[in-house]
Amino acid sequence: KLRWGLLGASNIAKQWLHTSISKHPDCEVISVYSRDKERAAAYAKDLGLRRNFTDLDAFLSDPELDAVYISTTNDKHRDEAIAAAKAGKHILCEKPLALKVEDAQAMIDAAGAAGVVLATNHHLRNMETHRAIKDLIKSGQLGHITSARVSFTVDLPDDLARWRLNDPKAGAGVVLDLTVHDMDLLRFYFDADPISVTAMGLTSGSAPHGIKDNVMTIWEFPGRLLVSCHDTFLVPFGGTAIDIHGTDGSVHGADVLWQKPQGRVTVRDAGGTHEIRVEHLVPYDRTIDDFVKAVRGTGAPSVTGEDGMNALRLALAAVQSMEIGNTVRL
Ligand code: NDP
Repeated sequence: KLRWGLLGASNIAKQWLHTSISKHPDCEVISVYSRDKERAAAYAKDLGLRRNFTDLDAFLSDPELDAVYISTTNDKHRDEAIAAAKAGKHILCEKPLALKVEDAQAMIDAAGAAGVVLATNHHLRNMETHRAIKDLIKSGQLGHITSARVSFTVDLPDDLARWRLNDPKAGAGVVLDLTVHDMDLLRFYFDADPISVTAMGLTSGSAPHGIKDNVMTIWEFPGRLLVSCHDTFLVPFGGTAIDIHGTDGSVHGADVLWQKPQGRVTVRDAGGTHEIRVEHLVPYDRTIDDFVKAVRGTGAPSVTGEDGMNALRLALAAVQSMEIGNTVRL
């Protein structure tokens, strides 16, 4: 079995990834690392893990450990991933892969040099709703795609708000939290990278330090395709949505962003409106399944380190556009 350690005593590991890893027949979670002794011990007890660590080297040098899932705050991903690679452990790292493109590249290089798998946990492309939308785009049924809209319009419960809303050093704000997901999803839908971005962002809520909690970006993709993304932490009741418009039809995904497998996909065309049947599955299950295949040499990660770096590169271009108040060519 592939023996995993949770690098970070986080919400996401407890809510989703611990379960997805544990239920995979070829995986087992054996340990957790936290900087905080009490949190490490309580977390291990809660999840029934054999070992807990507050020393990263000791955690990584456990000879039983094969792979780590990094879900600390964004600022820590780089050093932890490089340390894990040097220790010969395979790595599933949370998004954003890092805070800078050079750091993401350094992580990719370290994994390459050590011969370990590095994957990024962008989960949206592993959701059945988004896979159905991509299939529709690729089928040609919608005709020539001219525009799309992403509404990642959510609010933040208190346990998620902490550093996301308050700590610039940790990589707070919607761009590194949500826009980066949009970009991975759009690269997945269109098998292409955008060629320019124009962005505006505000602090519309109570976030301190000028942290942007409300951001709109407009992307031009090859083929004269325009996409707008609205990413915000300030919309409790709006629901999330995706719209893809083609010359022969439009597809609408309702409540298809966020983590829970849910939502509805409908197509509207000359024949009327009809719903696409989707069998919902937990997206992280597919992430783990693909990761295991990559480690065993029988497949590739759903989202590679390079994919993670590209999503980050695009999100940071949006930040640059906001800063200069102009379009950024990519
Ligand atoms: P958390 O805030 O839950 O955990 C991050 C770190 O904060 C932990 O490693 C822990 O470090 C510390 N921490 C945990 N709980 C507390 C607490 N109650 N008080 C103070 N510190 C605490 O992070 P999330 O789970 O929300 O996010 C972790 C990473 O995962 C981020 O990179 C995020 O972008 C990503 N993410 C990805 C999602 C996806 O679907 N792909 C969804 C959600 C998050 P320590 O114990 O060492 O102090």
